[in-house]
Amino acid sequence: MGIIVQKFGGTSVADAKGLRRAAKLIAAAHSAGNEVVAVVSAQGNSTDELLKKAAEISFDPCKRELDSLLASGEQAAMALLAIAAEAQGCPAVSLSGPAAGIFTDGHYGEAEITQIDTGRIMKELYAGRAVVVAGFQGAAPNGDVATLGRGGSDTSAVALAAALGAKICKIYTDVEGVYTADPRLDPSAKKLDSISYDEMLAMAKAGAQVLHPRAVELAKKHKVPVEVLSSFTGTPGTVLMQ
Ligand code: ADP
Ligand code: ASP
Ligand code: MG
Repeated sequence: MGIIVQKFGGTSVADAKGLRRAAKLIAAAHSAGNEVVAVVSAQGNSTDELLKKAAEISFDPCKRELDSLLASGEQAAMALLAIAAEAQGCPAVSLSGPAAGIFTDGHYGEAEITQIDTGRIMKELYAGRAVVVAGFQGAAPNGDVATLGRGGSDTSAVALAAALGAKICKIYTDVEGVYTADPRLDPSAKKLDSISYDEMLAMAKAGAQVLHPRAVELAKKHKVPVEVLSSFTGTPGTVLMQ
């Protein structure tokens, strides 16, 4: 049936209930016959908490160590989500960004993805497992882990979808799609059924947090079909199109 990429943001996996909800979405897609790659963010506001811990110790923490620290947030989430998927009866394996074959230019804190070697992911999919990948990270040329910048899990998901030739990249989040304005700030904001890559890019660059600008650029470049939707409600979201 083809590969689908599902991305779960921090609020979607903030606690056991959220992890279970996300795992059910993975298991449902898997039992419908899809090859599933899930990309996960750190739980809740754990990235901020890790940053705070470093700031309590140093005014100027070493960027390499900061990346090791922050990458651990997504690594904890990936293992928990794979455990949750297994608990739903869905065979699953978690992979860090480097283990998943994601290579970057190694600029700590703002690394760019340079290449994806899909060999390991394909091997796991072929074995019938759902693959849970830690978002927001990849390998630096020297073998270190490097992070992609805040909100970077969206970019991990779209880059993986492009490299794998996925039929869709579903960005599961805490709102029902892309709105005309931030629905948390503007109650009159309307949900859009679809939006063009260019309009979405303009919104993302203007600060609409729901999708990272780099992810939109990649989706446009590689014509990746993207849907932004809620992991909480199951209603259809917003589809990105040309
Ligand atoms: P995630 O943890 O899933 O990555 P984010 O917090 O990064 O989620 O992005 C989702 C948030 O983006 C929403 O909770 C919403 O407040 C905000 N947002 C800002 N602008 C928009 C918009 N135009 N449409 C939808 N959400 C928006
Ligand atoms: N956990 C990272 C952040 O909080 C990456 C992400 O959520 O996309 O920025
Ligand atoms: Mg986000």
